[in-house]
Amino acid sequence: MPTDVINPATGTVFTSVPSLGLEETDAAIERARRAFPAWRAVAPGERARLLRRFAAVVDDHLDELADLEVRNAGHTIGNARWEAGNVRDVLNYYAGAPERLIGKQIPVPGGLDVTFHEPLGVVGIIVPWNFPMPIAGWGFAPALAAGNTVVLKPAELTPLTAIRLGELALEAGLPADVFQVLPGKGSVVGQRFVTHPAVRKVCFTGSTEVGKSIMAGCADQVKRVTLELGGKSANIVFADADLEKAAAAAPSSVFDNAGQDCCARSRLLVQESVYDKFLALLEPAVKSFRVLDPADKSAEMGPLISAAHRDTVASYVSDADVGFIGNAPAGDGWWFPPTVLLARSPDDRHWREEVFGPVLSVLPFRDEEEAVRLANDTEYGLSGSLWTRDLGRALRVSRAVETGALSVNSHSSVRYWTPFGGMKQSGLGRELGPDALHGFTDVKNVFLASGE
Ligand code: NAD
Repeated sequence: MPTDVINPATGTVFTSVPSLGLEETDAAIERARRAFPAWRAVAPGERARLLRRFAAVVDDHLDELADLEVRNAGHTIGNARWEAGNVRDVLNYYAGAPERLIGKQIPVPGGLDVTFHEPLGVVGIIVPWNFPMPIAGWGFAPALAAGNTVVLKPAELTPLTAIRLGELALEAGLPADVFQVLPGKGSVVGQRFVTHPAVRKVCFTGSTEVGKSIMAGCADQVKRVTLELGGKSANIVFADADLEKAAAAAPSSVFDNAGQDCCARSRLLVQESVYDKFLALLEPAVKSFRVLDPADKSAEMGPLISAAHRDTVASYVSDADVGFIGNAPAGDGWWFPPTVLLARSPDDRHWREEVFGPVLSVLPFRDEEEAVRLANDTEYGLSGSLWTRDLGRALRVSRAVETGALSVNSHSSVRYWTPFGGMKQSGLGRELGPDALHGFTDVKNVFLASGE
């Protein structure tokens, strides 16, 4: 049964894709299981070469992939090009891994003890709709590099780029069934990754609620799991910060990708002595944020992903104190303007819950101790930022905020060569960086007796 694919900037259906059932999913997992022994046996240098070739083919199709994402996910063309480039870069980065997947030689009496990083087998990757390309690549590139075969389920709303990446992998020369993309429902295809015994690991990115059920399901087979879940990250502005710079940077830290970003700095904490001044600086920056047709090169933000999601986002604004609102196109498509809400207290729903839209909640704080307490007063712990000119404070607060990634005097958080992942209920395990590879292997210890 095919699923319609809708352009969120216009609200119109522009294509449809198949939605796989249980039998087709099982057949694909079986093919992946059969492809595993030959793929793990490919010489490290050859596996590296194939991944580099895959990266080169992605690069050759960068414009096509970016265009697909603009139409399917409403991402701005600037972002979509970065995202396709990120898949290429992550493939190139992990192409360096097969030849460097080095074990240890451990001194023991009576023989030789060595460790191997063995691939797991079939890895199931479940991807959300907000960053369809990068999140797919963060899973499949290291998984393939470590010698696993991969089945990947894109989100129902955004399957097109993942399907195309599956085709490009074959074009690059990856053997058949080593990397398969299986569009379909989470409750069917995704669940089967959890329950099928041949799938040895599930790499899930999505909501905390679904992530918890995946973790519980995987427990039944002691299946390995990586979880990248929700966030409600804080942006803490101290009175001694460069306020102009912090105010200019704040909008993109939460409104990028229309706020549909697990790392969105959606809670803004401003020291009370500069609260009014900071909001006065923030207002023009929010009002001039360019929400346009995502295909327009100057667009900074596009539409939300769906009509239903727009209703959810709107529900957070209806009974809140609105500080100020930016601009958005009227008419067709799932548009929502950048919106700044003034929290009455840390109990406000919009302050506590992940809105996943272009909504920023603001709250004043008294001192460093209160800033850290408010920042940590959440079940999430994915990302965050702090702005100060005091080096000691920057160090103290960086260490005290319970979050997997944090930036000082900037909002950067995801680089493919540094680790990414959440503390608390934002996730389990780390993606990207030098160590992610080990999440796709098990350590085997071998002792060889030297004899009498
Ligand atoms: P979601 O949890 O609804 O869906 C994510 C994926 O899981 C989809 O492919 C969906 O089909 C699948 N799925 C749904 N139910 C399933 C089930 N029972 N079994 C197996 N698979 C199932 O999330 P979403 O709405 O697509 O994405 C938004 C969420 O993702 C937000 O909470 C966001 O914070 C989070 N996210 C986290 C990160 C991160 O790296 N931490 C990155 C991006 C998005």
